[in-house]
Amino acid sequence: MPIDATQPYDDQNIFAKILRGDIPNSTVYEDAFALAFHDINPQAPHHILVIPKGAYVSWDDFSARADDAEIAGFVRAVGNVAREAGMVAPGYRLLANIGQDGHQEVPHLHVHIFAGRPLGPMLA
Ligand code: 5GP
Repeated sequence: MPIDATQPYDDQNIFAKILRGDIPNSTVYEDAFALAFHDINPQAPHHILVIPKGAYVSWDDFSARADDAEIAGFVRAVGNVAREAGMVAPGYRLLANIGQDGHQEVPHLHVHIFAGRPLGPMLA
């Protein structure tokens, strides 16, 4: 079920548990600002989720509350993940779902990285 992006941060959400190491994940990248791991239900040959280490519900929450170092660090981390995975030359897609109409299901900001096949035109 999609979440309400205006809700307070819930530290029991699944990605908070992954960040704390409470449940296992397949980490592909980690730095001071971000953790990246494989999506459990991949929608492309490569489907990676990148999450900030800070407690932010959505892109909206992050862009409003995070400090400049966190924002810069997270944006750079997303680029690093794709670059280190060799996705730049063939290309890839970034996606962040926000709230009900955006069909966001996990209430911790995550950017999807899709790659590994031609992804076709963007669907609205
Ligand atoms: P959203 O719809 O919120 O943008 O996407 C949530 C994503 O998280 C989905 O693609 C879903 O497959 C993924 N996901 C949900 N639970 C888990 C989990 O426990 N581990 C991993 N690795 N991915 C998850």
